[in-house]
Parts: sequence; C-alpha cells; structure tokens
Amino acid sequence: MKTCDIQTGIAMVTKIVYDEIFKLHEMAPGHPENPLRLEAALEGIREINTIEGEIGFLKPKRAELEDIYKIHDKKYIEHVKDQSEKGGGFFTLDTTSNEHTYLASLFAAGGGVLAVNEIVRNSVKNALVLCRPPGHHAEFGRAFGFCFVNNIAIAAKYLIDTTDCNRVMIIDYDAHHGNGTQNAFYSTNDVMYIGLHQDGRTLFPGTGFVGEIGEGDGKGYNINIPMIPTAGDWAYGIAFDEVIQPIAESYNPDFILVSSGFDCHYQDPLAQLGLTYQGIININQRLIDIAEKIASGRIAFFLEGGYNLGVIKQASKHLVEQLAGIPIEKIPEQHHKENKHEENIQLIIQELKKQLTELCF
Ligand SMILES: [Zn+2]
Repeated sequence: MKTCDIQTGIAMVTKIVYDEIFKLHEMAPGHPENPLRLEAALEGIREINTIEGEIGFLKPKRAELEDIYKIHDKKYIEHVKDQSEKGGGFFTLDTTSNEHTYLASLFAAGGGVLAVNEIVRNSVKNALVLCRPPGHHAEFGRAFGFCFVNNIAIAAKYLIDTTDCNRVMIIDYDAHHGNGTQNAFYSTNDVMYIGLHQDGRTLFPGTGFVGEIGEGDGKGYNINIPMIPTAGDWAYGIAFDEVIQPIAESYNPDFILVSSGFDCHYQDPLAQLGLTYQGIININQRLIDIAEKIASGRIAFFLEGGYNLGVIKQASKHLVEQLAGIPIEKIPEQHHKENKHEENIQLIIQELKKQLTELCF
C-alpha cells in the first residue's frame, strides 16, 4: 500500500533509476570503475526492509541529444559514438570505452532527466540515479576520470531550461572534485555548485580550490571546500554548519541535486578521506533536510564514484532508506578515529567567507 504525505498529497515514493545497460559499459579488466559497483549497490538496496510502494525502480530512456549538446560539444559526443561503433577506444590512460559506452552514457543522462522530471511532476518524492558511466569529471569536449557524459549537469540544465525551476543547487560530496560540473556552470548563477572533496594537491583531478568561485554572473556561485586527507565526520559537520547550510538558505534553490560518491568513506582504495557510514548518513540527512526546508523536498542523488564494493553496498542501502524515510539498519562499524585538523577546516572556512563577503553572501 502506498503511504501518502497528507500535507502535500505526494506519494511517498523513492525511485531508483536503473537499467541493465549501465553494466554493459566496461573499461580495462580490473578497472576500479566496473559493473560490480552497481551489483553491490543493488544487493544493498534489495536488503532493505520495505513495504510495497515505498521504493520502486524506474527504467530510463535515452537522453535527447539536444539536452546533451547544451553541456557537451557535439563533435565530442559524435566521437564517443564513433569509438563505440568501432568497438571502443582510449580517451585518457584510465578512461576507455567499449561498444556499449555511447548508449550507456545516453541512458545514464536520460535517467537523470527522467528522475528530475518525475520529481517536478510530483509523481515521485525523490530519486537515486544508479547509473554508469559516472559523470562529474566529464568536460564540455572530453572524457575524463572514468566519465564520458556529465549526467548531473545535463539534469540541472534541463531543470533550468524546461521546468519552473530558476535556481538549482548541486552538492558534490564525491572524494574527487567535480571539475566537469563546476566548469559547466562557472559563469552562471542559475546553478550553484558546492564541492566537498579531498584537497586537489593530494588527489585527482587536482582542482577545486577555495579561490575557484566562479566568474561573471557566476561569481560567488561556485564553492569549493577542499578537505585535508583523513578529514571525516566532524570536519564535514563543520562545513555544513558554517558554509553549506547558510549558503543554501541564502541561495534558496528550487531543486537540489547531489553527486554522491562513496569514495569519501575511509575504506575507499582510491581516496584518503575519513568519513564513516554515519558521517555519510549525516551528509545525506543534512541535504534531505535542506531540500525539505527550502526546495519543497525536491532532491535527486546521482551515483558518481566509490570503489570499495562493501562500502557501495552499505552506503547505497542507507541512502535509499533515508530517501524513503524508513529506519536505517546500521551495521556495526569498526571505530575510526578522525584526526581533527581544526585549524585546517577553520582556515578554509575563513578564506571562503572572506571571498564571499564581497559578493552576495
Ligand atoms: Zn570520486
């Protein structure tokens, strides 16, 4: 039986956007960004204790090329298509395609558009786009960092151009800076990008510093909070209290999109951050609560990175439980002691505040 929010009449449904095509895209054997990541997430989600109607799946359609071309160069997308038609090829040393990459990318981008559309139409409450390839490193004219098409950027642009949303906020908590998403909206105030990631001096892609605050109309609408390696639950909590919450309330977005990368967990093999499961739960809850308070609950999460399969399984389960508003079944977690680099986070916050005081916040 469906449960309903009595105040709004919206069906209390969380939808997971997924298609088997997302598992057909593969890079080199042994590559950390592989189809097992989605199987792990699905395994976790299947374990959720739910009553019928709380959680469902949505099958995506291919994105319209005209929506993709608003974020990517047509020539580049045609190159991805050509390479897939030839069986695949190299884009960078660690980012390669196969015969399914082009189509999987179109469906991943289409999945994001479908998710935000369903939420705007009130036919679902919120969504998780469980897709591959991920997107937040993909630039206007190039594949980069395991990403080909920037799914979250295409969904944000779609919201601005096609729906009643005038301001979209993207929060990216993947361990790696979302360079592609940042650059897509660097000169506009229609979309605000906030990146919480491991300091670019210590991790790919080497960008996402405090001084990158946008330009032209976008000046002040691009926020980076680079975290020192080992930063964890405590530091992220401060970042929310001091920066993200006040900025979100000031910006007042109509829709919140989240680049969710579980490589911020301390057990990830590619990054060195210190978040626990509880820390990731806290981030998700802060974002869901901000959406409830400011954006009529409109929020969609997009899977980006995360390379420890056990972590992906558990963190995906928690996230869907949170989105559906059902009790979180936590697993006992080995105690992980966070080094509180208090001076470091305070310095970052002071620097950010100094930069932004002269602007609109
Ligand atoms: Zn990442």
